[in-house]
Amino acid sequence: MKVASFSHQNRDSYGVVNNDGIVDVGRELGAKYAGLRQVLEAGALDELAAAAAGKTADVGFDDVTHLPVIGDPAKIICIGLNYDDHRKEGGAQEVDNPTLFTRFANSQVGHGQPVIAPKVSDKVDYEAELAVIIGRRGRHIGEDEALDYVAGYACYNDVSIRDWQRHTTQFTPGKNFVGSGPFGPWMVTADEIPDPQKLGITLRLNGQEMQKANTDLMIFPVRTLINYISRFTELEPGDVISTGTPSGVGFARKPPVWMKAGDTVEVDIEGVGVLSNPVIDE
Ligand code: ZN
Repeated sequence: MKVASFSHQNRDSYGVVNNDGIVDVGRELGAKYAGLRQVLEAGALDELAAAAAGKTADVGFDDVTHLPVIGDPAKIICIGLNYDDHRKEGGAQEVDNPTLFTRFANSQVGHGQPVIAPKVSDKVDYEAELAVIIGRRGRHIGEDEALDYVAGYACYNDVSIRDWQRHTTQFTPGKNFVGSGPFGPWMVTADEIPDPQKLGITLRLNGQEMQKANTDLMIFPVRTLINYISRFTELEPGDVISTGTPSGVGFARKPPVWMKAGDTVEVDIEGVGVLSNPVIDE
């Protein structure tokens, strides 16, 4: 099942994506569950599926304003340097543990919504990533049971403002600009992705392939990330883990490639979907 968050006629909603468009389940369940995070908190994905079953789409997929899959996650945890070729292209040392940083929810944008090239920098880079959306609360989650805690998967573009990322050793600012976190186009529920470590992942900039890899190249696979993170914090329904980007990012190219207004950037993950966003100036 594909589940999307969107806004239509000035009402935020969510629903199930089918071949015709989106079944607007939020119209029926919105009073009970304000958004997808609340659906996950209630363990109500089955109820959402039942509400959409056998129905035709209420609205065309391209006729809505798409919102980030989870607009208000309690946590967005991003993984740095989780593909060895990307670690090497940036000249970073090998590490024994995952490199973690966080994103604010207000940096996120939905499918089709603009990435904002900020006034204060022209070093706007892309990072194709597989996002994991947590479906169950847990701490000290074993690797062998970790995937049972996943509600689903989506595409994430961890857009990075490279100079602000490197002002100091702590790169929070460069990873949190407004309009820098495309997240979508929908969540594919975990039952459709039996193995998240076997997915082709590609990024295209203006139709040209810039990153191409497979999630089997992750240094720390999804189950290890869930185990590691849950040892220091409680993972909660709706939390997002963005699992890091493969090689081919703009800064490491010779000459470097920066995104600018007028560009279109796409993250394409096999079995998940294509997340496409235009770039505009602030
Ligand atoms: Zn990243």
